Amino acid sequence: MLATHNRGKLAELQALLGGQVDAVCLADLGVPDDTVESGATLQDNARIKAHAARRRTGLTALADDSGLEVDVLDGAPGVHSARYGGEPRSDARNLAALLHALRDVPAERRSARFRCCLCLVAEDLEVLATGTLEGTVIQAPRGAAGFGYDPVFVPRPEEVLAAGLPPDRIGRTLAELSMADKNLLSHRGRALRRLQPVLLALAQASS
Ligand code: IMP
Repeated sequence: MLATHNRGKLAELQALLGGQVDAVCLADLGVPDDTVESGATLQDNARIKAHAARRRTGLTALADDSGLEVDVLDGAPGVHSARYGGEPRSDARNLAALLHALRDVPAERRSARFRCCLCLVAEDLEVLATGTLEGTVIQAPRGAAGFGYDPVFVPRPEEVLAAGLPPDRIGRTLAELSMADKNLLSHRGRALRRLQPVLLALAQASS
């Protein structure tokens, strides 16, 4: 059970899991999007969402809580990333709010990172994994792929190369990369690969 209603995250998690485990999402089972993310940290919220999904479905549950931390904004929007632009929530409002907050900040002071915290809950088991991706917030959006803050986030060159991507990917925003490329270097991809051994062991035990 992938415990998210965010379609962008869902698509990435499904691609990352490939055919290795059978995954369903909350919407497939008609579970409403009403879990209150009341935690003070990404880790708290990932645990809240995973345990709520497990309670409601009885299935092994995997939840993601993630966000963008901008250094010059003291780590904001961070745990508030999904609602940074106010209500009604939208990626466009969040992006506009972020670019407005950074309007007078020069390129060399726009460092940021995405952070993802995953929580996997099964019977008598809770496992947490974190992944980060360092980069910079640019001045104007570029690219149409991905979701959220992807169009304004350019990963650091060393992150791109360390993920094994070709040098021509350097300087692109996450929204200018294919999902396969993004998954190789993203915070979510990194966190999920850390959980992979546990997921595979659970899948084997239940087959
Ligand atoms: P959550 O559902 O509270 O975890 O919300 C996470 C929010 O952080 C999303 O709505 C996005 O705005 C942002 N976010 C998380 N991961 C990504 C990503 O991979 N790309 C772009 N934005 C992201």
